[in-house]
Amino acid sequence: MGRITLNQITKSFGDKQVIPPLDLEINDGEFVVFVGPSGCGKSTLLRLIAGLEDVSSGDIVIDGTPATDLPPAKRGLAMVFQSYALYPHMSVRKNIAFPLKMAKTDQAEIDRKVTNAAEVLNLTDYLDNRPGQLSGGQRQRVAIGRAIVREPAAFLFDEPLSNLDAALRVNMRAEISELHQQLATTMVYVTHDQVEAMTMADKIVVLHAGVIEQVGSPLELYERPRNRFVAGFIGSPK
Ligand code: ADP
Ligand code: MG
Repeated sequence: MGRITLNQITKSFGDKQVIPPLDLEINDGEFVVFVGPSGCGKSTLLRLIAGLEDVSSGDIVIDGTPATDLPPAKRGLAMVFQSYALYPHMSVRKNIAFPLKMAKTDQAEIDRKVTNAAEVLNLTDYLDNRPGQLSGGQRQRVAIGRAIVREPAAFLFDEPLSNLDAALRVNMRAEISELHQQLATTMVYVTHDQVEAMTMADKIVVLHAGVIEQVGSPLELYERPRNRFVAGFIGSPK
């Protein structure tokens, strides 16, 4: 579970093509980071995978199932938004339970899944608090909890740490990596931060103007950047 294949997908907004034909294979359990400068198409690519945007052409296959025409809720993926997407008037428990409520899951199952997620995320003591009473890191964990309860085939993160301060960002990086180890679920993670990419990824996808410049492990990109753009972006000496 968690294998995502992109076959010759493209995306245009009006007559502007922001993603030229693109192929990519994301393997089961992999931590894949899309990295590149602002405006290069990282969010668009993630939103195409999530189904929040429709591809202009090409197709998407998730775990062997054609997913191109499936709505987001049917793709089995969970997008993790920045923590400010939490509902301030709801308790942590209700925030985490929200997607299950929407799916009309029965209450006993909701309780079980929320309890498990809270345990994994060290939020057990905060379930009755409101987001405003939590630290930035805890709030981000609640946002992740909302994805965990859906038991997705893959987690999709779009710059989840960009509104945290630098020290907290370093902490949360480690926490998300640990969560990946623990859940062994595919994670696709978007960032413009090279350090984040190098420290978290199994596989880095370097994007430049909607084009994949190189795909490889952090070490491969560092030691054998394919071109000047990758070298410059990753910070290796080529
Ligand atoms: P990144 O996440 O790497 O910063 P985006 O995927 O947000 O980049 O944007 C890639 C390009 O697509 C940019 O030129 C942006 O202006 C354009 N774009 C993104 N979303 C839309 C939209 N809904 N309508 C028109 N243009 C868009
Ligand atoms: Mg973006």
